[in-house]
Amino acid sequence: MHDPVDIRRRVDRLVARVDGRDDYGQLLASGQVIHRLEDVEDIEAWRAEISRDARSGEIKVRTGFNDGIVWALRVRRERPERQAEVRRLRELLLRAVPLAVELRHKPTLAVQDGDALVCTCGRCSALGYGDAAENVVGGALFEDDCPNEEPPALTALAMMHVPRSCWPSEGPGPA
Ligand SMILES: [Zn+2]
Repeated sequence: MHDPVDIRRRVDRLVARVDGRDDYGQLLASGQVIHRLEDVEDIEAWRAEISRDARSGEIKVRTGFNDGIVWALRVRRERPERQAEVRRLRELLLRAVPLAVELRHKPTLAVQDGDALVCTCGRCSALGYGDAAENVVGGALFEDDCPNEEPPALTALAMMHVPRSCWPSEGPGPA
């Protein structure tokens, strides 16, 4: 399986990348940014700045404020590379999530950015890392047993990516 030191480094890098984003970076990554009105000093300046960034990055953005929030939303045409990314991620999850369930973990998606993702267990500290572009899957979540003996309850992630015949049979079932 994959070198645990390398997996740890990849997880740290992904988390740092997601944490360190400014508003425009977050808009690029997730397609939207939302703040509470009281957290933004000058609403019009905030909207102008993100619109300016969007223009220089040649993306389309819509901004506005209502109901106590100010927001920016990326207006996108469906790009073929985005569809390919979604397909690669799904294939990665179809491969990785059954491993976690077989090891009795209760996997949920914690962070995702581009082709990389981190999953965690809902009842132990195991982390799993996957990169669909580099074909890397590793971490305790996908390689080591969950310390809990009881079969795990199914998560949405498990339901979507594990064949029904491999679901934990004696578990309490979906909550
Ligand atoms: Zn676990």
